[in-house]
Formats: sequence, C-alpha cells, structure tokens
Amino acid sequence: MNNAGNYKRIVVKIGTSTLTHETGKLNLHRIETLARVLSDIKNSGTEVVLVSSGAVTAGVAKIGFHRPTSTKEKQALAAIGQNEIMKIYGKFFSLYGHPIAQLLLTKDVIDAPARRALAEDTLEELLSMGCVPIINENDPVSCYEIEFGGNDRLSACVGVLCHADIVVNLTDIDGYYDSDPRKNPYAKMIPYVESVTDKMVENAGGAGTERGTGGMQAKLIAAQMLADAGIPMMIVQGTDPEVLYKVMDGSAKGTYFAGVAAK
Ligand code: GLU
Repeated sequence: MNNAGNYKRIVVKIGTSTLTHETGKLNLHRIETLARVLSDIKNSGTEVVLVSSGAVTAGVAKIGFHRPTSTKEKQALAAIGQNEIMKIYGKFFSLYGHPIAQLLLTKDVIDAPARRALAEDTLEELLSMGCVPIINENDPVSCYEIEFGGNDRLSACVGVLCHADIVVNLTDIDGYYDSDPRKNPYAKMIPYVESVTDKMVENAGGAGTERGTGGMQAKLIAAQMLADAGIPMMIVQGTDPEVLYKVMDGSAKGTYFAGVAAK
C-alpha cells in the first residue's frame, strides 16, 4: 500500500507557520533539526529536495515591518526574507556537510515546455552534484500567491518536475480530517486516502494561522496534481522534523495519499 523503505528521491515541503514562531521570527531550532534530519536522510542514500516558504515572514521579521497588506509590500519583503532563509539553511546544511542550491520558480517556467525542460535539467544536475536544492516561488517577480497558488501547489509541481517518489508536506496539522478539527472536536483523522475527489477539495478549509497561506484545500489540490503523475503525498505534523525518519520507514502518523487519480 505504501512504498516506504524504497524512497530514492523525496520532496519535502515546509510551510511558513512551521518555520516560524508566533512572533513571526524564524524557528531556528526547527530549521536546524530539519537540516540535520534531511542531511542524514541524504547520507543514507535518498536524494532530497526542499520546498521552503517563509520568505515574506522572514522579511517582515528582518526589518520589523508591519503585516504586509499590498502585493508590492509582500514582494519586496520576500526579496529581503528569501536571502535570510537561505543564509540560515546554508549555515545549518554546511554544518552537516551538504551543499545547498537555490532555485526560484515562476509559473510561466512550468507552463512553457522549453523552459520547464531547462528547470528539470538543472534540478537533475544539482541532485547529481550532491546538492540539496531549496526551492521557493520567485515571489518578488511573480503575481504573488496567484500564480502557483502557494507553495503546496508549488511542491506538487516540483514533485512532478523531479519525478519524486513521494512529496512530504510538513505542516501545522497532523493529517487530513473528515471535518475541520479546529471547529469540530469529533473530527477524525484519515490515515489513508486512495484518491482525492473534487468534493473533498470543495469541503476543505483554508489556512490555520495568520502566517500560513495554504490550508487543507491547497494540500488536497496538490495531492490531486501529484496523483495525475502517480506520485504519492503525505501530510504530517512538522513540529518535530524527526518525523521524517518515520515517513521513510512507513511508521509516521499522518495522511498518506496513494497517488491514484480520481475517476
Ligand atoms: N512563497 C511564499 C513565501 O516564501 C509562501 C507561499 C506559501 O507558503 O504558500 O513567503
């Protein structure tokens, strides 16, 4: 039912609310743990691609700006914050001996076959060079959050682009529930979903925190995009990135989407 134990290439997506404290500042302990665990997984022979959000929030924290309201504020803050997050990733990954590489994508690259093929080749080359590609949307020059519709969808595009064995979404909730657990105390977590139907997408909610953007709906759409390419996805609580070891051996608590397109 699940191909754990045989993942040769994984994409891990981490969202802003998982990367930052409630203050909006970077959660260094979590980022350090993430870098250590991903480095270790890489040492064990699995290629790792990281899709990381957090640019806008890190930009806000860096210059002490108010919560951005306009697109141009968000785009400028992303330009400031992207550098901040890469600096931190660079420090932690180099501590564990792994080079990183930044790749910033826009939707027009994914949609244009020739440019998409270039991005695919670059990604492949970076992996063969032994790097950990760290990917975000090129927010300062794209229609912010309009193009990909957030990093949940971006992570699905990346999963397809690099032919990943699984995309793991590290987030602030421990899985997909049959109703919103923030509103319904009886909501039940569903550990296995064969196919995501449009009805499930329709019924799903938005972001859980002010810092987060995607929410469950975007995650289900990402799972659908991946299913079209036969790639599974897993949603797990990202509070402790060590959970990735359990994803690797199939024992993680969370929701496993089998990567089967709905009929
Ligand atoms: N690309 C945005 C950022 O880095 C985040 C978008 C998202 O999390 O969906 O701030």
